[in-house]
Amino acid sequence: MTTRILVTGGAGFIGSHYVRTLLGPRGDGSVRVTVLDSLTYAGNPANLDPIRGDERFAFVHGDICDTPLVDRLIADHDQIVHFAAESHVDRSVLGAAEFVRTNVMGMQTLLAAALRHAPRVFVHISTDEVYGSVDVGASTETDPLRPGSAYAATKASSDLLALSYHHTHGLDIRITRCSNNYGTHQHPEKVIPRFVTTLLSGHRVPLYGDGGNLRNWLHVQDHVDAVELVRKGGSPGEIYNIGGGTELSNKELTALLLDAVGAGWDSVEFVADRKGHDRRYAVDHGKITALLGYRPRRDFRDSLAETVAWYRDHRSWWAPLTGS
Ligand code: NAD
Repeated sequence: MTTRILVTGGAGFIGSHYVRTLLGPRGDGSVRVTVLDSLTYAGNPANLDPIRGDERFAFVHGDICDTPLVDRLIADHDQIVHFAAESHVDRSVLGAAEFVRTNVMGMQTLLAAALRHAPRVFVHISTDEVYGSVDVGASTETDPLRPGSAYAATKASSDLLALSYHHTHGLDIRITRCSNNYGTHQHPEKVIPRFVTTLLSGHRVPLYGDGGNLRNWLHVQDHVDAVELVRKGGSPGEIYNIGGGTELSNKELTALLLDAVGAGWDSVEFVADRKGHDRRYAVDHGKITALLGYRPRRDFRDSLAETVAWYRDHRSWWAPLTGS
């Protein structure tokens, strides 16, 4: 039987990897996929070019806050995988209104429609940032939420709203909370593509504070595979952390990127730290490993080299986004 999946935010970085995988050779042959995406500055229709001609694929240009549109789409689908979000922390420091609108009101719009039409599964893609900074150890799914940025606060709000619809109405909500993703097709506002594209353009990169902030890196394909495990085998009302297993300070990451493009530390400018910059995120992914067999498979150094090579070879993809 064919499963009709509605993927919100499918023109963005992770959502487009997810959709290309679903409809690719490694995908689930029995799906039809509709992407709902409003194509903000972060959405890129070119990310969907490889599957545009697939008769199992449809694209709807629209907003997750548009109640009649969302209602109509959810009525026509069996499952929802929800990636759409305002996703860049730095922007949320400058102004949070759009984050509240998309990440919270958009979630509410989807949940209200889901309540009317009872899709079988609703996977909500969240983030490790909802747990806030952890000095030592790793956050588990039962840890309290202590979001530090407006971005993380709106994601935490969407998680809580979604869980309330499971608790109150019995909706089959499954939440994933992943670490920092990296890979191809990521908007050059995010640190890895920003540094790579800036260095490839011969400019200096800005490193926040002392460069000691620690992040755990997850290859986007490992993330996508984990989302599929949750969509197919997860349980209603459950939260699953998805970690990547490679922890690096921003300074260590910068050293690897400088090396990869053949630049030196004279290409780095230490700049004032971001306001409220969380020091460290780390998630324990023992639950999804034990219950669904997840483990990150991509080797970090090889995958980082592949990512850098992709940006080197795809200047026409990112140059319009960086103005270079
Ligand atoms: P992205 O910014 O690359 O893509 C977001 C997509 O959502 C874009 O295509 C955009 O056009 C679309 N969108 C935004 N507002 C919309 C709206 N109102 N209606 C319809 N579409 C809208 O983001 P990403 O990096 O692919 O992240 C996807 C999800 O994963 C987000 O929910 C994000 O919070 C989460 N996440 C990302 C990371 C990461 O490292 N990138 C880490 C943890 C969690």
